[in-house]
Amino acid sequence: MSRHDEQSQPSDSHDGADCISKPVLELSQARTSIVGEALSVRRALPGKPRRMVGAWCFLDHAGPMDYEIGGGVTVGPHPHIGLQTFTWMIEGEVHHHDSLGNHQWIRPGQVNLMTAGHGISHAEVSPMDRPGRVHAAQLWIALPDSERHRAPSFQHCPVMPRIERDGFVFTVLVGEAFGHTAAPEVFTPLVGMDVTSKAAARAKVPLRPDFEHAAMCLEGEADVAGQHIVPGELLYLGTGRDEIDISSDDAARVLLIGGAPFGEDILLWWNFVARTQEELAEATEDWNAGRRFGEVSGTDLPHLIAPDISGLRLRAPQG
Ligand code: MN
Repeated sequence: MSRHDEQSQPSDSHDGADCISKPVLELSQARTSIVGEALSVRRALPGKPRRMVGAWCFLDHAGPMDYEIGGGVTVGPHPHIGLQTFTWMIEGEVHHHDSLGNHQWIRPGQVNLMTAGHGISHAEVSPMDRPGRVHAAQLWIALPDSERHRAPSFQHCPVMPRIERDGFVFTVLVGEAFGHTAAPEVFTPLVGMDVTSKAAARAKVPLRPDFEHAAMCLEGEADVAGQHIVPGELLYLGTGRDEIDISSDDAARVLLIGGAPFGEDILLWWNFVARTQEELAEATEDWNAGRRFGEVSGTDLPHLIAPDISGLRLRAPQG
């Protein structure tokens, strides 16, 4: 998906709260944003005060919602650099088209991972000929400096590890949990899991104490580490936990993400993650001039136009 809803000021990774080296409970509200032509999402990252959780630097929660013909996900071709886009499909289906020539449907229970590296473009489109339903999370993963100029690539993961335990189904989306490792290839230590119950449930989830973690409720209501959460809220959990309690009184779905504190300052602007304003300006000019990012076929949706970066006074990364 894409940020083109706001004349975004660039956000650096440390202008909110510092990484916290202990367990905490920090509840924040996602903001509502519009993606593509009309899809309303809850944007939890970057947020205030929390801008990143490990290398996770962007988190949109879309749906669950029904849409009419022509609705759903309708994001035309747009570029990315310096990040991986990570799509977790819960309900509905979306067709991914990218400048490497991939045309891949993503369906419930599947993950698409697109590594932008030095530059890729893509479009994401719901079926246009019928009404439908969409429920998905799209996250971005910042690439570390050593990997952010790599060649672009795309990975479709049709089956994720599922573990049934204590009334929950745990789906491992990234990294390792309960001895199962998910397929997506990432470049810093990360974890992601979907935790779903159909009725009241209570479980202890093992965590890596060197990771920072956060939880977002995607459906129903849940308690995580004793904190009640509902959709639209992000619960940051800090580091230093080796397990966490998750419970629900009824059907619920929680997205749990974590990772090693990223340790590098990033600049996130529009669909780009970089380190300097010059890199952002160059990527913007290249996209608007039709350079670097290739061509996306398979959709008639118009290209997104990068917003004007020339007037922005970007802050230099710290440190
Ligand atoms: Mn995108």
